Amino acid sequence: MATELLSPPAEIIRRKRDRQRLAGDDIAAFVRGVVDGSWGDAQVGAMAMAMFIHGLDADETVALTAAMTGSGARIDWSGEGLPGPVVDKHSTGGVGDKVSLMLAPLLAACGAFVPMLSGRGLGHTGGTLDKLDAIPGYRSLLPVDALRRTVRSVGCAIVGQTDDLAPADRRLYATRHLTGTVESVPLITASILSKKLAAGLQALVLDVKAGNGAFAADLPMARELARSLVEVAAGAGLPAVARITDMNQVLGRSCGNALEVREAVAFLRGDCEPRLLEVTRALGADALHLAGLAASHEQALAQLDAALADGRALDRFARMVAACGGPADFVERPDAYLAAAPVTRPVPAARDGWVAAMDTRDIGLAVLDLGGGRRLAGDRIDPRVGLTDVVPLGRPVRAGEPLALVHARDDASARAACARLARAIGIGDAAPAAGPAVLERIAP
Ligand code: URA
Repeated sequence: MATELLSPPAEIIRRKRDRQRLAGDDIAAFVRGVVDGSWGDAQVGAMAMAMFIHGLDADETVALTAAMTGSGARIDWSGEGLPGPVVDKHSTGGVGDKVSLMLAPLLAACGAFVPMLSGRGLGHTGGTLDKLDAIPGYRSLLPVDALRRTVRSVGCAIVGQTDDLAPADRRLYATRHLTGTVESVPLITASILSKKLAAGLQALVLDVKAGNGAFAADLPMARELARSLVEVAAGAGLPAVARITDMNQVLGRSCGNALEVREAVAFLRGDCEPRLLEVTRALGADALHLAGLAASHEQALAQLDAALADGRALDRFARMVAACGGPADFVERPDAYLAAAPVTRPVPAARDGWVAAMDTRDIGLAVLDLGGGRRLAGDRIDPRVGLTDVVPLGRPVRAGEPLALVHARDDASARAACARLARAIGIGDAAPAAGPAVLERIAP
């Protein structure tokens, strides 16, 4: 049969469809086509699906990451004369994961400079920017110049990715959402790292969540993603370390946007839920050690503990909020600024026993249904709603004792959330084996 002459995009798609390795030039042409629009939506979607199904090897993943990084501007910090390294942390996303809110100011208080480019939530996991949007006046979309100024003067800024950094990722990620091709290790690797490399970092720590509330449901999947991330980062010249952390329960005591900001402020004042503290310290110590700000992991932990105990991390958070347009006295009076939901309702335990299991994804979806998340990219979020006082796994409870407190905008949604949470939080006859929150460390 005569071979039909295909357009250049179709030729490249065909190669991947037929399981051939793509050359660096093919990948560069694809990424150029994504950005300049010369590849149509059908072609970008077909390529994403071919990559999803047949995967990318290490060289292809490095080439895709490099092409996506080079698809836009790259922040160069060398002219800023910063007296410390530029570092960041990325999480693959979890329920109640507010670590970024504390970690950025903690690292800044220990001498790092942290341009933390964060995202919005979609589906059952929250997004750091949505949490910060709960603070009146906070501008999460700072232009690059303002980001530079804030990082230089405060030491950290948590903001959204600007349009000119890794623009290829924006279209490709949106297409992946529409075509069911998000859950691919090489595509996730290129997506995350292209944005981090464009931010001009000198060190990166990665929090790869594993469990029933995470993209990676089990340890082997989380390991594969963590290894891919640290190896491709190393290949691109960015030192990176990953921690695999547990997402079989809500992280911390709360989930929901304003409620998590409240928990973050309390944490920076010393009221730290133990698992949240464990994850934050492990990632923070890796970052300080990797960036050369501490001679050992133990020394890094001591630096973080001191910055937490003497209020320097809280002060950095307060200054970051003010520099980004929020109230100057936010940390003194968070309740005066964070809107509260009109209805609160406890979720009573159905019987005596131990908190034995959580369907963490379903808990995230319950918050979404309360109005605290979005199903589609454009959905509006109600910052007031969510959960507080979520009991940890292993806690003994008596019938009728609250398993969590639901914060809702009306009675009907509060009642629906309570029923759902009573199913999502399982009570057993014995305490489950207690496991750590930080499971593994993956380095290249
Ligand atoms: N987060 C990203 O930034 N990209 C992905 O592909 C998945 C999660």
